[in-house]
Amino acid sequence: MLTMIALFASALRPARALLQAPTRCRATRLFARQPGGRNPEKFERSDLTITEWPLPVLRNTNNPVEDFDDEFRSLCSEMMDVMYQADGVGLASTQVGIDKRFFVYNPTGDRSRKDFEVIVANPNIFEYSEQTETDEEGCLSSRSEECAGRVTRSSWIWVEYQDEEGRQKRKKLKGFEARVFQHEYDHIEGVLHFDRFSEKDRARIQPTLDMLLEAHGPGGVLELSDEKKAALQPPLTASRMPPAVEAAAPKKKKKKPATAGFGGFGGGKKKR
Ligand SMILES: [Zn+2]
Repeated sequence: MLTMIALFASALRPARALLQAPTRCRATRLFARQPGGRNPEKFERSDLTITEWPLPVLRNTNNPVEDFDDEFRSLCSEMMDVMYQADGVGLASTQVGIDKRFFVYNPTGDRSRKDFEVIVANPNIFEYSEQTETDEEGCLSSRSEECAGRVTRSSWIWVEYQDEEGRQKRKKLKGFEARVFQHEYDHIEGVLHFDRFSEKDRARIQPTLDMLLEAHGPGGVLELSDEKKAALQPPLTASRMPPAVEAAAPKKKKKKPATAGFGGFGGGKKKR
């Protein structure tokens, strides 16, 4: 898990996006995803599609789940399936256009690890650690790779929620799972990962956001309202903002013939 934090310090390297499993290269091949973190247009075994910013539903604060019936459970398992196909580790209701407070996740991103699958309904994060960690996040709802950036999150959280049967759960989460939970929880509060970016990171992804805005046309909801911003939990204070990036030390250039592209995706050969 340690590795997750520092894997991709540079924005030029592939972001291990929150909604993107660590095995990016493998998944890219499997799903032939286009550069920039584009989602498949059609998923197998499902008619769900993944919503993209600035679709208004992504800014909704959603209604509670009330019926823990077969229909709900089957929708959750369909979302889990879609999440894997999109190479994700979490998927929130708003991301499939549903106005209810629930999400699914599997921090391993591995569909064979059913034991890590979690269905979360009507959640509440009632304690955030002061201790924070900063890591790269991307989101399936905004071209996960192109709009990846650093987000500072609590290292651990105490949460309560209902599972797929409506049973009440209370847990302390830490590490990557805590980060996934915080990202997904933000979704059902209408908050997106880049709302928590530093100004610099936000400016860097702005051209992609502008492209998405143009693709969407009029009627999108672009930013958090002032009201929501003021109510943001935890508040976006200085300690919750990603630290400024140190200017990289100039590298000694190796004499090697130039190859096509910057080759950022191939360099690491990260193992799972
Ligand atoms: Zn997301």
